[in-house]
Amino acid sequence: MPTATRPTTIGRFAPSPTGPLHLGSLVTALGSYLLARQGGGQWLLRIEDLDTPRVVPGVADDMLRTLEILGFQWDGEVLWQSRRGAAYAAALGRLLNDDSVYPCGCSRAEIARIATAPHSGDEGPVYPGLCRNGLPPGRSARSVRVRVSDEPICFQDGLLGQVCQDLAATGGDFVVKRADGLFAYQLAVVVDDAESGVNQVVRGADLLSSTPRQIHLQRLLGYAEPYYFHLPLVTGPGGAKLSKRDNAVSLAASRDLEREGHLLLFDSLRFLGQKPPLFLRESSCVEILSWAVAHFSLADVPRMPGPFPLHS
Ligand code: GLU
Repeated sequence: MPTATRPTTIGRFAPSPTGPLHLGSLVTALGSYLLARQGGGQWLLRIEDLDTPRVVPGVADDMLRTLEILGFQWDGEVLWQSRRGAAYAAALGRLLNDDSVYPCGCSRAEIARIATAPHSGDEGPVYPGLCRNGLPPGRSARSVRVRVSDEPICFQDGLLGQVCQDLAATGGDFVVKRADGLFAYQLAVVVDDAESGVNQVVRGADLLSSTPRQIHLQRLLGYAEPYYFHLPLVTGPGGAKLSKRDNAVSLAASRDLEREGHLLLFDSLRFLGQKPPLFLRESSCVEILSWAVAHFSLADVPRMPGPFPLHS
């Protein structure tokens, strides 16, 4: 009898090379890897080197080497956002054609001065819509903004349940092309995920508030909406910030990954609420990953931020 065919899961890990991999990125790499591989899906790797002023030279290569040493294997070629300008421009062109976006002549300082809303979104004050109906006389375009509506955007997070956000109240029309000419993260992520066929986005809870904006763009561009899972954030002991030294996970940050890479993976699994048997602590990275793919339990992943169980 033919079995019902389910679309293959396509997950991804998309670090920004603005600093070496840290424990939070390792947890995200691991969580996204396990959720994708668990059902035999693909796991893609994308380097988000779009924000060129913040990119630190050498970090992307260090990330790739670090992931390799930790036993991660990705499918296909690495996608580099810095080479994807034409795809982002094409998407922006479509948004322009249907009047979903408009040029904006406001600077951040002006918006901060004018905004009267009582609360700010995570990217600063709510945009007051000054250029929404055309650039005021004497103004020239600096950035490009996308129109939002006050209909809340809701999605079902695989870990956190239903999440809703009213984009108009929390940030207003948001930037898709920045004043420095760079495409904004929100647009690039949506275009890349859609064009790579990504249908499962697993990432840190710090990006939870970006997801409704990304869903808004997906709807405007006619893209399918992926399944989302926002993983708990990593803290130090007692909720404190982790020290730079403890937090760094990379060769460049002088971690001896040959010696302690498997321990970092083991501890990341425990951070994700999994219960690896103790003997696995002495196993290789590849053995730990294959145990984890076979035994991963989403139900055991904590929903709240927590301290990373640092091995001593
Ligand atoms: N590049 C982002 C980061 O490193 C992640 C983007 C995403 O997963 O959507 O925080």
